[in-house]
Amino acid sequence: MPQYPDPGRPLYCARCAAPLGEQKRGGVVRPACAVCGWVYYAKNALGAAVLIESANGVLLVQRKGEPYQGYWMLPAGFVEYGERPDETAIREALEELGLTVTLNGLIGVYFGDDDPRNVAILLVYRATIAGGELRPGDDARAAAFFRRGALPPRIAFQGHRAVLRDWEAGGT
Ligand SMILES: [Zn+2]
Repeated sequence: MPQYPDPGRPLYCARCAAPLGEQKRGGVVRPACAVCGWVYYAKNALGAAVLIESANGVLLVQRKGEPYQGYWMLPAGFVEYGERPDETAIREALEELGLTVTLNGLIGVYFGDDDPRNVAILLVYRATIAGGELRPGDDARAAAFFRRGALPPRIAFQGHRAVLRDWEAGGT
C-alpha cells in the first residue's frame, strides 16, 4: 500500500493532547499516543459527483478557487459527516448549477490522489435535470456542456479525468 502525504496528520493526541509518537498497527506505522493509547488512522475523503448528459454533451463546472483554479470538473463536493452521498450529489448540483436533479444510479467509484487536501474516493451518479435554471454557483466560474471529443484540456482531479475518459469511450 503506498504511503501518501496526509495533510490531516496530527502532532498531538486528540484525546489527551500529549505529543504523538508512532506505532505499527495493522502493518502500517501510525501516529500513536504513548500516554493514553489513542491511535490516529488516516482516512480517505469521500466525494460525490453528478454526471448530467444532454444532447449537447456532459455538464461541467469551471473551478473558481484553488486547487486547480480554472480547471473543469463534474459538479461535485465532499460528503459531510453523517450525510448520505446521494444527498451530497443532489445538494452539490443545486449549489454549483442552480439545478434540481434526479439521480439515476451509480456510474462508478473512482480514486484520486492528486488533490493536495485529501486522497479521495469519488462516487459518480448519473443525474437528469428535474428543474431550476442553469447558473454557476459561488464556487464555480462557469458551467457548460461539452461534447464527446471536445472536452476542455484542463480537467481537475484524477477521479474526474477517469470518469470522463470512460464517458468519452462510451462506457458510462
Ligand atoms: Zn493520548
